[in-house]
Amino acid sequence: MQDAVDGREGILFPESAWRDYPSGSSLRRPAAAWNHPPMATHLLEAMSREGFEEVIALQDRRSGLRAFLAIHDSTQGPAFGGLRRWSYLDEDQALRDCLRLARSMTYKCALAGLQAGGAKLVILDRPELDPAAGYRAIGRLVERLGGRFYTGPDVGTDAQELGWVAEETRFVTRPDEQGPGLLPESTCAGVFAGIAACLRHLDGEEDWRRRTVVVQGLGAVGRGLARLLIEAGARVRASELDPEKAERVARELELELCDPATEYEQPCDVFAPCALGGILHDLTLTRLHCRIVAGGANNVLVRSLHGERLHQRGVLYAPDFAINSGALIRGALFHLEGRRERVEQIGARIGEVLGRILGRSRAEGLAPVRVAVDEAAQRIAHWRGERVPEA
Ligand code: NAD
Repeated sequence: MQDAVDGREGILFPESAWRDYPSGSSLRRPAAAWNHPPMATHLLEAMSREGFEEVIALQDRRSGLRAFLAIHDSTQGPAFGGLRRWSYLDEDQALRDCLRLARSMTYKCALAGLQAGGAKLVILDRPELDPAAGYRAIGRLVERLGGRFYTGPDVGTDAQELGWVAEETRFVTRPDEQGPGLLPESTCAGVFAGIAACLRHLDGEEDWRRRTVVVQGLGAVGRGLARLLIEAGARVRASELDPEKAERVARELELELCDPATEYEQPCDVFAPCALGGILHDLTLTRLHCRIVAGGANNVLVRSLHGERLHQRGVLYAPDFAINSGALIRGALFHLEGRRERVEQIGARIGEVLGRILGRSRAEGLAPVRVAVDEAAQRIAHWRGERVPEA
C-alpha cells in the first residue's frame, strides 16, 4: 500500500530507508543511518516518490518569516491548503508536516470528488517573527501564484491572520462575510455524518441514545461535534488540555469531562480525535476501549499500518481524509463555483463516501484506510493520466 498517512517517520524519512538495516531497536542501527542525505537531494526524492509538484521555501528577513509551501497537485484545478503556524522543533519537522498535510489534502479532494488538489503552507513560529508583516509576505506569495493555490485557516491562523493575508491577495478564504463562512460547522457536520455511517455499518442503525462518544479536544471541531452528538441523544464525555476551556464548554453543553491522562482508556462506542494528529501508534492503540475511531483531527495515525492494526483488533477506523473534509468542501465550492454549499448537504456527501468505503472494506476484507487510500490513489492517477496503481 502507498504509505499515505504516515506520521513520525514521514515522507522525508520513509521506512524503506531502513530496509537494509537489521530489525530491532533503532539504537542498534549503524551510526551512518542517522546521517540524512543532503536536504535538497532528500527533498527532491521525496517529492518525486510522492508526486509533489512544487515546494517553495520562503524567508523574509524583515518580518522574520520562515515558511514552506508544498503544492501536491493542481492537475484538475487549484490546490487548496490551510496556513498552519506552529513552533516546530526544526525545519525538518516543519517541512515534513507541510508535505504530509499537502498530500492528505489531495486525498481529501479525490474522495470528495472536488475539481481541486492539495497543498499546505506552514509558518515556523519563532520569537523573531513579526506576525502581521509575515502574513502579509505570505499574501504576496499567494498572489504571485495567480490562483493556482488558495489558502485558508488552520492551527495558529485565525480571523486576524487571514485578514493580513487578505490585504495582499484574492486567493484566500476570507474570515468575514465575503468568505464562505461556517467552516468548522461544515467539518463537524461531516464528522457527525461519518460517525453515523460507521454505526450503521456495524449495527444497522445509529440509535444515538445507546451510544457513548469520547471527544478528544474541545476546540472549534470538538465542541461543535459534541453539541451535535448531544442534540442527537448520545452521551458525550470529553477531554481537553486547557482546564479553563474544558470547564467553560462542559458547563455550556452539560457534558462530562474526563482526565486527558485517561482519555484513551475510556470505555465508549466511539473515540473521536479532535485535537492534534499523530496520536495513534503502537503505544496508544492498545489502550483504546472503543469500537470506532472517527473524528476531525488530521493525520490521526502515525503510520498507515496503524490503521491496519486497528482493523485487526476489530476497531473500525474512519480515515481522517475521508471524514474531515467538510471545511474543504465548503471552501473549495465557494471559490470554484461561487456558491455556499449547505452544511447538511456536506454532511450527506461525507456520509455517502464513508458508507461506500466501509462497504468495500467489508466486501474485500480490507482495512477502511487501505480502501480509502486505494480509491484516492486511483482517482489521482486517473487525473494525471498515470498508470492506475494496484490495490
Ligand atoms: P483547535 O485548536 O480549536 O482545538 C484543538 C483543541 O484540542 C485545543 O483546545 C487543545 O487544547 C486540545 N487538545 C490538544 N491536545 C489534546 C489532548 N491530548 N487531549 C485533549 N485535548 C487536547 O483546533 P480545531 O480547529 O478544533 O481542529 C482540531 C483538529 O481538527 C486539528 O487536527 C485540525 O487540523 C483538524 N481539522 C480542523 C478543521 C476545521 O474546520 N477547523 C478541518 C479539518 C481538520
